[in-house]
Amino acid sequence: MNSIETILEQIDITAPVPEAGDVRQYYYIKKMRGFVEERSRELGRPMTASAVTFGCQMNAKDTEKLLGVLGSCGFSIIEEENADFLIYNSCTVRDNADQHLYGRLGRASHYRKQNPDMKIAVCGCMMQEKSAVDKIRRSYPQVRLIFGTHNLFCFAEYLWRVYHTDKRVTELWDRNDQIVENLPADRKYFYKSGVNIMYGCDNFCTYCIVPYVRGREKSREPKDILREIKQLAADGVKEIMLLGQNVNSYGRTLMEPVSFAELLAAAAGVDGIERIRFMTPHPKDLSEDLIRTIRDTPKIARHIHLPLQSGSDRILRAMNRRYTKAQYLALAEHIREEIPGVALTTDLIVGFPGETACDVDETIDVIRRVEYDNAFTFIYSIRSGTPAAKLEQVPEEEKRANFDRLLAVVQDCAKKRTARLAGQEQVALIEELNDQLPGYVTGRLSNNTIVHVRGDASMIGQFYSVRLDECRGFYYFGHVKGR
Ligand code: SAH
Ligand code: SF4
Repeated sequence: MNSIETILEQIDITAPVPEAGDVRQYYYIKKMRGFVEERSRELGRPMTASAVTFGCQMNAKDTEKLLGVLGSCGFSIIEEENADFLIYNSCTVRDNADQHLYGRLGRASHYRKQNPDMKIAVCGCMMQEKSAVDKIRRSYPQVRLIFGTHNLFCFAEYLWRVYHTDKRVTELWDRNDQIVENLPADRKYFYKSGVNIMYGCDNFCTYCIVPYVRGREKSREPKDILREIKQLAADGVKEIMLLGQNVNSYGRTLMEPVSFAELLAAAAGVDGIERIRFMTPHPKDLSEDLIRTIRDTPKIARHIHLPLQSGSDRILRAMNRRYTKAQYLALAEHIREEIPGVALTTDLIVGFPGETACDVDETIDVIRRVEYDNAFTFIYSIRSGTPAAKLEQVPEEEKRANFDRLLAVVQDCAKKRTARLAGQEQVALIEELNDQLPGYVTGRLSNNTIVHVRGDASMIGQFYSVRLDECRGFYYFGHVKGR
């Protein structure tokens, strides 16, 4: 019997509702179970639920929690959006994410015409913005449940309410200081998993909405994190990714502060976990300890994602990034010296207010010098309420031209870096079937490079030693040498 069943067995749904914490949510999960069972009987088929994620790994992790609750309530989870219960976990980091959600909501109303009992819900970062919520309330009456990032842990209770009222349920909190542990999660992959180590962000980069929608930084207790990792390992997970907006400041809010390097080393000590990744460190406070821990711990992936955003000191200052071009370059050089074979990737923003072609040249200079293994390049998107939104904006066509110029250099560097691995033998975790090439599977090296090898589904979730035969730009074709 798994632990969720054990917890549910101890819950008495004839007793008054528990006031708070995980037991309150389990109380509602148990009540929902009865409801879903009965409704499924009436329908003559299982009630279905589906969740769609927008945005980053942290949202993907939150979706696993939503699906964990839905599955525990007895819903049958499906991939398609025409489910009895459909939830969109929204992102608002850039405007195109917002537009995506509106497009999908429009489409979801068609499913609702075919199934008038369908319930549509929206949660996530975008719901922490009043203007977005107002628009949804006004223009999308088919949305029956709205909640935000701070109260995701109350999902089970909101579900119950949605099915027991005719009114739309809107629950928005503007903060939350507690972390509720031990709620169910339904992992997307059996062999790898994200692990939240902290929530929120206190950095307030001037372009970024995250601190406003995710709130103040708070760290989970190391014992809770390690307990989760041990459980994941016991369930067969081999690779984990520690998740936080600014992982180097992990532990500062704890009663007994623990550094991120210490946490990473402890996570690496968990038997069964064979590879560890983390996202995202901030260049301003990446410690020497962390570099040494990565260097000395082979289980930690040879990959550091180190967002640069801009290479111009003037723009970095205006962005409130709190490092200079020279400091960043020195750090990148030091990392490459200390950790042989490490891949460095980054995030870049083009078109921050006031950015000129000369500023972009500075960014390009950093790209060439660091020779990134890969980079996510974004066009600056105005986020209302952030300091940069009020500054004079760069014209669209100028942003576009600078973006194209920068992207060409990024791609050139990434190809060069990838090509260097040709002929090497490296360990790959096989992640999925290659859906374009029958008879092939796709794996990932420690440094995050993708390799396609001949194989079948039985290899998924296993580590293989592979030879990197043929470089195709940003990825490889190779063959398996052994386990
Ligand atoms: N905490 C992480 C990043 C979170 S957001 C960090 O600090 O690195 C992911 C990326 O989105 C950022 O690194 C940035 O490059 C990009 N981004 C954030 N706000 C943006 C905006 N307003 N316009 C364009 N890109 C943005
Ligand atoms: Fe946004 Fe900066 Fe925080 Fe990253 S560190 S989430 S870019 S405010």
